[in-house]
Amino acid sequence: MPNSVKWLGHAACQITSATGKVILIDPWITGNPGCAIKKQDVKRADLILVTHDHSDHVGTDIPDLVRSTGAMVLTHPELAAVLVQSGVSPDNIINGIGMNIGGQVEWAGIKVTMTQAFHSSSIGDAVGYIIILEDGKTVYHAGDTGIFSGMELLGSIYSIDVALIPIGSVFVMDPLQAAYSLTLLKPGIAVPIHYKTFPILVQDAGDFIRLAREKAPDTRVEAINPGEEIFI
Ligand SMILES: [Zn+2]
Repeated sequence: MPNSVKWLGHAACQITSATGKVILIDPWITGNPGCAIKKQDVKRADLILVTHDHSDHVGTDIPDLVRSTGAMVLTHPELAAVLVQSGVSPDNIINGIGMNIGGQVEWAGIKVTMTQAFHSSSIGDAVGYIIILEDGKTVYHAGDTGIFSGMELLGSIYSIDVALIPIGSVFVMDPLQAAYSLTLLKPGIAVPIHYKTFPILVQDAGDFIRLAREKAPDTRVEAINPGEEIFI
């Protein structure tokens, strides 16, 4: 089996590695009007990454998901402490404390680097993640962010196979910034996320697809629907 990258809806994504390990990112499932699954549908999770504490990212399901799957949680120490208060066992926080921007943590053959993101949050910083799977395939989840010049560094340091890119505007990059970010990140494939969940957000990927084709013709855009996946 190849690795799969599935968009669950909004910023929630699921990576299943070729060996079957399941990584959930920002699993806002219950209450997410754009989510393709229910909490009970999650049969396996090995690693849960959280980008920041806004309710449409951290959600309310993480303590239950950790209990039902035994997944390990990775985020920064400030949000990790809040998750422990909300019922996640400290034994399920990687390193017992989490990590911070620039560092890399390896868990069961999956390497995760926390990256900066430019966005507000109540606790700690908003972040993104570079996830390197066992076979070296690399996925970037940008979290919630505006465009930033450091994306060019990320694109130089890492060979990004798939970039999960917020395009919804208002709270994150708009389609123009999102398309331009691809010229910095240079991913093989870009999957637009964080749009159409709410009426206030951009409602379709059309502008992003058009602008990405113009600005970053070397990147293939895969505008999949919630519940759909691509294979790498
Ligand atoms: Zn946010």
